Amino acid sequence: MGGSRKPFIAGNWKMHNTVAESVRLARGVVEGASDSRVTVMVAPAFTSLPAVSEVVRDTRVELGAQNMGPETKGAHTGEVSVQMLKELGVAYVILGHSERRHTYHEPDDLINAKVRLALEEKVKAVLCVGETIEEREQNLATKVVENQIRRGLDGVAEKDLGQVTVAYEPVWAIGTGKTATPEDADAMHAFIRLLIGKLYSEAAASKTVILYGGSVKPDNIRSLMSMENIDGALVGGASLKAETFLPIVRGGLGE
Ligand code: PEP
Repeated sequence: MGGSRKPFIAGNWKMHNTVAESVRLARGVVEGASDSRVTVMVAPAFTSLPAVSEVVRDTRVELGAQNMGPETKGAHTGEVSVQMLKELGVAYVILGHSERRHTYHEPDDLINAKVRLALEEKVKAVLCVGETIEEREQNLATKVVENQIRRGLDGVAEKDLGQVTVAYEPVWAIGTGKTATPEDADAMHAFIRLLIGKLYSEAAASKTVILYGGSVKPDNIRSLMSMENIDGALVGGASLKAETFLPIVRGGLGE
């Protein structure tokens, strides 16, 4: 990574772990992730947020949620509001994850409404973008990612951009064991940074933290982090065990 950006390693636990399992995992992460030079975030399932919130309180580990509703309250069966998350100490919310986009068909305007609401409520947004394998094969990867960034950040003011982390997660690399090469990932990160420079300013672009996600493991984090524009990782499978997540946190520091 380059510039003055702080490395950021985030764990997305998806629909895994009971409350007891989440607490155990969170304790393991807290014990091993005390270095102030890296931001560490874990995003358990909604049901485990209260218990994990207690574990990470007053530690260096930040609490994240995996999604939220686009409304503040009301008749929205199955949704969880940003205020409900804030009440539990949630600092970050993952929005536009490819599983939300592709399995649950969340469109860009819905993701944008969530991003804007999170920022209004002072919850930091991790905006996920990334192309499918078909889109990559048709040379549409940058076009798709550009559209997701433009639409995801529509209406977001430059003063709020510091509350946004971008996660580039090529859909074909998520949970598949296939990782983009560090060079290919860095090329897309550079493209995203350039785009943010065009949409906002060069100063804003150089400060924006851009994570890579897609089968990040202890053995590939260092080569990814050695690239100029890769500032950290959003980790799925390997975040489910402290034994695999903590080496990634250390790798985020280049150790
Ligand atoms: C993810 O879900 O954001 C992810 C990158 O998953 P995995 O690390 O398992 O590929």
